[in-house]
Amino acid sequence: MSRFWSPIVHTLSPYVAGEQPRIAGLVKLNTNESPYGPSPRAVAAIAAANGDALRLYPDPTSLPLRQAIAGTYGLDVGEVFVGNGSDEVLAHVFQGLLNHDGPLLYPDITYSFYPTYCRLYGITARLVPLDEGFQVRLEDYRQPCGAIILPNPNAPTGIARPLAWIEALLDEHPDQVVVIDEAYVDFGAESAIALVRKYPNLLVVHTFSKSRGLAGLRVGFAVGQRPLIDALERVKDSFNSYPLDRLALAGATAAWLDREWFDHHRTLIMASRERLTVALRKRGFEVLPSAANFVFARHPGRSGPDLAAALRARAILVRHFAKDRIGDFLRISIGTDAECDQLLAALDGILG
Ligand SMILES: *Cc1c(COP(=O)(O)O)cnc(C)c1O
Repeated sequence: MSRFWSPIVHTLSPYVAGEQPRIAGLVKLNTNESPYGPSPRAVAAIAAANGDALRLYPDPTSLPLRQAIAGTYGLDVGEVFVGNGSDEVLAHVFQGLLNHDGPLLYPDITYSFYPTYCRLYGITARLVPLDEGFQVRLEDYRQPCGAIILPNPNAPTGIARPLAWIEALLDEHPDQVVVIDEAYVDFGAESAIALVRKYPNLLVVHTFSKSRGLAGLRVGFAVGQRPLIDALERVKDSFNSYPLDRLALAGATAAWLDREWFDHHRTLIMASRERLTVALRKRGFEVLPSAANFVFARHPGRSGPDLAAALRARAILVRHFAKDRIGDFLRISIGTDAECDQLLAALDGILG
């Protein structure tokens, strides 16, 4: 606290990111990063961009990347917005598209950046409880509102709804913006990008941080019809005209075009997830059905904080949320099979 702060700073509740400690031999399964390095083509493109040209500003429109993304989906470049991580894209979405008279609806258990942005931008939110099975339920969203945002698959549960469910939600809310945050969609869910041409109220947000192995590069994007993208452009150009630097633009474009790397590694991660799920259930864990690069699991005999602390003492980091209904769950990012085996061996030691 300081008398020098603008008044709003006193009211903020900043997002608490998973820790990034430097511990030798650490098995890091706490922030849903990829256990695999990014496409070698992305690394090479970044190296090639790393030179004299850095004295020049980057392309303010990030055109090559937007063209590559638009091309994949058969969309126009004007229907793609890119930003410095999907967190920044989401920030612009909250400010530019989700601040209306009615409350913004999102699940009570979801990505914890949403309430942070609501505070920052003065947006009124109404939290919609997940059902007993931790599912989002269509009928619970049948209420007056200004807009809706939800991740699909949801975080930190990992549970996905099918495309037909998303379409039903869109049909029920033709006069509200519906944002689907697809940070984890590449690990087994269906993307709502297929619906963008049909629904003028739909915006879909993606990130390069998970399925492209580029959390350190900070690139994300949104796809939607032009009026929605125009709003984001207006906010961006009132905030930072050059969100993607030259290295990020080169690396993300090369990563996007390396379809083979992408498919190979997400397939590996999904296979490891199925293997880890079976192994955890064999040890007595309840594991929610995950379509993401993490599992959400609890053990009937041990509390969440206990287990997380015991794992940490063995240099294995997982994420734990001290929140209602999910306090005994651990969110475990999918590592390599070797890392998953280290986790399982540690759990065997802890559980006896
Ligand atoms: C990781 C994550 C993001 C943010 O990704 P960045 O692109 O790294 O900022 C957004 N939404 C959800 C649900 C996430 O889990």
